[in-house]
Amino acid sequence: MTCWKDLLSPYLMGTGGLAVRDPANGELVAAVADHGPREVEAAIAAAEAAQPEWAERPAKARAAILRDWHDLILAHAEALAQLATLESGKPLAESRGEVGYAASFIEWFAEQAKRVNGEILPSPWPGKRVLVHKQPVGVTAAITPWNFPLAMITRKAGPALGAGCAMLVKPAEATPLSALALERLAHRAGVPEAVFRVLPSSAAAAVGSVLCASPVIRKLSFTGSTAVGKVLMQQAAATVTRLSLELGGSAPFIVFEDADIDAAVAGALASKYRNAGQTCVCANRFLVHHAAERAFVDRLAAAVNAMTMGHGLAPGTQIGPLIDRRAVENVHALVADALAAGATLAAGREWQADDGSFHPPVVLTGVTPHMRIAREEIFGPVAAIIRFADEAEAVAIANDTPYGLAAYVYTRDPARTWRLMDRLECGMIGFNEGIISTEIAPFGGIKESGLGREGSHHGIEEYLEMKYCLLGGMER
Ligand code: ADP
Repeated sequence: MTCWKDLLSPYLMGTGGLAVRDPANGELVAAVADHGPREVEAAIAAAEAAQPEWAERPAKARAAILRDWHDLILAHAEALAQLATLESGKPLAESRGEVGYAASFIEWFAEQAKRVNGEILPSPWPGKRVLVHKQPVGVTAAITPWNFPLAMITRKAGPALGAGCAMLVKPAEATPLSALALERLAHRAGVPEAVFRVLPSSAAAAVGSVLCASPVIRKLSFTGSTAVGKVLMQQAAATVTRLSLELGGSAPFIVFEDADIDAAVAGALASKYRNAGQTCVCANRFLVHHAAERAFVDRLAAAVNAMTMGHGLAPGTQIGPLIDRRAVENVHALVADALAAGATLAAGREWQADDGSFHPPVVLTGVTPHMRIAREEIFGPVAAIIRFADEAEAVAIANDTPYGLAAYVYTRDPARTWRLMDRLECGMIGFNEGIISTEIAPFGGIKESGLGREGSHHGIEEYLEMKYCLLGGMER
């Protein structure tokens, strides 16, 4: 079995560079080259030179290379999972799951690359033919977060490379190692070096500006905070660069009085506490009908009190560290604010200095919609429970947010299911399910949660231009 150090050996630096630390204990994991604006400019120029030849290859040839990349990712699953845990902190079982999820996008878009079909439209004129020709947008860029250090890259690189684009990736400062391991495997599979480059950098804002300002970069795909997404949107305006934005969320998790409570608790545990609550689709606000509240809270609290917190590589760990001290301070402040405003701890306890970068899993009851914890993205293992009286109130609270990414609904009433499909303002809904992501479905949000969709047969369209061609002189 290849160990992660073998996989990363060409990138590892003895001194200097970008230092990657284990969020659980602050220990140095490795250091790699730190790319500034100059190196990024050079990578853009190399990608511009290399992309046309990649685009001219038959889709089937690109697909075969992507397929090999997918197979190499799975062949190195354990090394990649260990790396993802070491740099992001998530429990190893979750990292193993992420490797499979990450690989699924490469497999899916290897297949979709072969199905980029143009169109011939019925002509309104005799002797003229109307065609729609699809072409790769060209050189693209991705800026990715630390919470899924593998999958947020493959979800973008799969469709980009499949479509015939080149892609430059600026991974999160905290997690460049998983990204570089993916790059190594892509090159080994046959993706030309300049066509897919990973550029770790400690100068995120400067690199973001270079990518947005360059007329060569025709598309930028970003996953991260709404605040940074808005900055990139402004910067991209100067060059009218196409954007895909996967931004923050504040997912409501609604439990109606007719719900299967055991299923709701299982879904809540999966949706809320995965990755210690650090995903953009994590349940952020639990809206629970008053008649279901007692049973739901009792069972959720019992499960949360039994959770094991520890290093992600330790067997049995369910809750790892948060990504850094700032993240912990933010979650702690939200919990303290809610408690001061009248909420109650139903499970867990407040963070203490000894906990370091770990935040204990918590359930809070008596939360009201105007508390900070109900209005901000928690990004930590804290379930905030708001009681509601009827469906109209639940929908009003659910939609009272600038975000619109995911929602979760537990009900056994089919008519209510259809009403909520219409009324909830978001891009994705799990009915009686707490985990919804799959490569075959369109992932994305509305309102301030983003633009565009990733995954599914729609995902590759984000990397394609449509060219309308009118062919005259075609008389029979
Ligand atoms: P989070 O709060 O989850 O870390 P961010 O939006 O800050 O989310 O980070 C997501 C990605 O955006 C990371 O790769 C980070 O380096 C990058 N980033 C942060 N600030 C900027 C910026 N001003 N311009 C471009 N990229 C940025």
